This record gives sequence, structure tokens and C-alpha cells, in this order.
Amino acid sequence: MNKTKILIIEDEKPIARFLQLELLHEGYIIDIAYDGRAGLEKAVADPEYDLILLDIMLPEINGIEVLRRIRQSMSTPIIILTALDEITDKVMGLDTGADDYITKPFVIEELLARIRAALRKNGLNKNDVSLLKIFDLELDIDRHETKRAGQAIDLTKKEYDLLEYLIRNKGLVLTRNKIIEKVWGFEFVGDTNVVDVYIRYLRIKIDEGYEQKLIQTIRGVGYCIREGKDED
Ligand code: CA
Repeated sequence: MNKTKILIIEDEKPIARFLQLELLHEGYIIDIAYDGRAGLEKAVADPEYDLILLDIMLPEINGIEVLRRIRQSMSTPIIILTALDEITDKVMGLDTGADDYITKPFVIEELLARIRAALRKNGLNKNDVSLLKIFDLELDIDRHETKRAGQAIDLTKKEYDLLEYLIRNKGLVLTRNKIIEKVWGFEFVGDTNVVDVYIRYLRIKIDEGYEQKLIQTIRGVGYCIREGKDED
């Protein structure tokens, strides 16, 4: 399981350094940009960031503009860092698509809590894997519950295991053999067609009746769970 990756865009080096050390201590992977232009470039170049901490008063390109440009193509959760007297920036930031804000000077525990909340809301907290999410489909690992658009879905044990495996590897193309190995186990003897059968069961339960299909068939290879168009 990959660790959660956070981009800090902050020109005040002592603050950036402080955030870096605290977040590394929490187990996050950290990247830093010291001005708006560099931050925007990093954010757009790397879709792997799970969250962005964005200062507003930045050289080169200000934070609101960075936010606006990131939001043109990405939905990465963004928490803005504002100074006490930047109330209009705070409002503008939220209007422009920030998920949350924190006012400087802040208590680190509060920022950490807001980071966890923003990640959880977006199903991105890899350091806390009790809730797996793709689009509007959620798997609550602790409770063994599945929901699509808030509606509970009843899955058999094998259907649930298969769906959990797909979501933990969302975006990746998984071959039938790989799925058999991980979901049915090495000792499974039989035809890999069993995967197709269970994928059909899952589709009826989680995709039928929804415009956005999540389980995609990759012809000649296997399956993938992601938002997008099926090749078939
Ligand atoms: Ca600043």
C-alpha cells in the first residue's frame, strides 16, 4: 500500500520546514514548492498527490490563482493556509474550490486533524484504510459494508473480497490469473472463467442502473475498477 503523499506550497521556509518535519513524523510523503509557479507545476505534473497544503500569499503566482488553475483539471483535496487578516482570501479560496482552510499561526494538531478529515472525505487516507472509495462507491472495511451513492449493497463473501481487491488496486489493470491468485488463493483449481462470472455478479449489484460504470473490461487482459469508459 502506497503512503499518502502531500505537496506543501509555502514560501516561508521555516513554516515549510516545520510542516515537513511534522508530516513526515505522521508517516506522510512530503514534497515542497517555495513559490506559486513551482507549486502549480508540481501539482499538475504529478497526479499522485493525495492532498495539497497551499499558502495564499505566494511569490510568482498567488495561492488563489494556483488553486483556480489546479481546479481546472484536478480534484485533489486542497487546504489553504491563510493569515488572520486574510478573510477575503479565505472566502475566495473556498469559493474557488479549496476543501478547507487553516489560519496562521495554527496548532499542528488542528492541521493534522483537518488533513485526516480531508483525506477521509475523499477516500484517500492510505494511512487509515478502514474506508475504501472510488467515485460514489464505498467499502467500509471495519464494518464489511458496501454502499453506492449512499445505498447499502448486499454482497456475498466472495463478491466482497473481489470488490475489495479491485478497489485497493483501483486504476490498475488486473489479469484473471492475478485476481484468482489474490482473491481465490493459490490452491484454487479450476477455470479462470470464475472471475468473469463473479465480475458479472458484481456489475449487476454495483453498476447496473448507474450512469458511471466502475468495473471496466480490458479486452484480452482482464479487469480494472476506475471511473471512465468501458472498452467493450
Ligand atoms: Ca506566504
